[in-house]
Amino acid sequence: MKDFEPDEMSGIEHIRAAFLKTCDIFGYTLVEPSPIEMLSVLEAKSGAAIRDEVYYFEDKGDRAVALRFDMTVGMTRAISAQKSIRLPVRRAAFGGVWRYDEPQKGRYRYFHQWDIEVYGAASTEADAEIIEFTTRMLKFVGLRNTRIEISHRMIAESYIAKIMDNRDSLGDMLRAVDRTQKRPESEIISEYESKGYSRNNLEAVMRLAHASGTADEAESALGADGLEGWDELRAVLDSLERRGVSDIGVNLGIVRGLDYYSGVVFEAFDPDSGVGALAGGGRYDSLAESLGGPSLEAAGVAGGVERILLAMNAQGIKTGLPARTTVVAYADKDLALRAASLATALRNLGIPATSDLAEHSLKKQLSNAAQDNARAIVIVAPREIESDTVIVRNMDTRAEKTVKVGELLENPESLLS
Ligand code: AMP
Repeated sequence: MKDFEPDEMSGIEHIRAAFLKTCDIFGYTLVEPSPIEMLSVLEAKSGAAIRDEVYYFEDKGDRAVALRFDMTVGMTRAISAQKSIRLPVRRAAFGGVWRYDEPQKGRYRYFHQWDIEVYGAASTEADAEIIEFTTRMLKFVGLRNTRIEISHRMIAESYIAKIMDNRDSLGDMLRAVDRTQKRPESEIISEYESKGYSRNNLEAVMRLAHASGTADEAESALGADGLEGWDELRAVLDSLERRGVSDIGVNLGIVRGLDYYSGVVFEAFDPDSGVGALAGGGRYDSLAESLGGPSLEAAGVAGGVERILLAMNAQGIKTGLPARTTVVAYADKDLALRAASLATALRNLGIPATSDLAEHSLKKQLSNAAQDNARAIVIVAPREIESDTVIVRNMDTRAEKTVKVGELLENPESLLS
């Protein structure tokens, strides 16, 4: 798992701030699901296969537990357990998740997700809202030219059912189509041929990955006969048009790997950065019941924070720099405590201020302050401090002035500028 250095942390905080702002304007309330789940909870929908993708272990009480691999399962478990809650309800979460993925650029074993979920709304307006949220969030982050690709799980499932007479093959085929987003189609066909599927059937299933463009274009590429889900997909597209969300296209190759999706699904991309999906989501109406809860409609989206940061870097978007501090330097070791007290007094006034902790020479303190991009340096020197004064150097203009300590504390903003 990776360590996060200051630059990356500052990027993550920038994205967190954009997310919280988006939650505020859309009315989503923040929660945090437990980082550890019973393994059986994670297996409820996906079966034992999920073990390959998560960290699981036995705890000291011999319980089979696992680290959360997304926020959705925990949030759905928590909401299902609440007896009286006014629906629909909008929930949000931001935090780290763990996956036993093969690490590579944009794919880590520990990373952050932002996530929103709407529970108790069957209407396609909920699907449209989470897509509108996603585009707004990516704009707040500063990204340009992002694109949403949308599909419907039932279109893919009913299309596959027409080709394969064995329902057991559905999961395999959905995974095969999902992989076309990342690997050449010929490789995937050979892999599934060796599992016993016929090349003809596989080629027919792969047509899903080529059905894209407008809804009409995708429908004519595949044929609409006997396929479910088109009406809902069109309703969501209509709603998005009313909401002014553009840069959206149909791509029936988006099926999403996870087993819990049941309706509209979508992913967001930055076509130029090549880091893969920045966010993905959709409708998953049966997860709550699989977790032993009531029947509860649900739709949500999760975004990969580190992936968004890679896209921001590719677009040259700078994230917030740390606050510039005032360094209170001392000309003589004996004055180190005076300098530290003055830094405290400035901090008490809300001014970012530090003083050297290692008794470096004044020269070194000054060069460190310059390297750390200090806003100003306040020098505590023997002769000046006898008359209760300090030297203030503005690091942008390099202008120096001698000021009374009392005046500095009375009017720090103007004297440090
Ligand atoms: P998912 O829950 O798999 O739909 O993932 C939602 C988003 O999380 C994806 O669109 C990616 O942006 C991000 N993501 C998924 N897996 C990883 C990973 N292993 N490392 C970094 N980001 C990831």
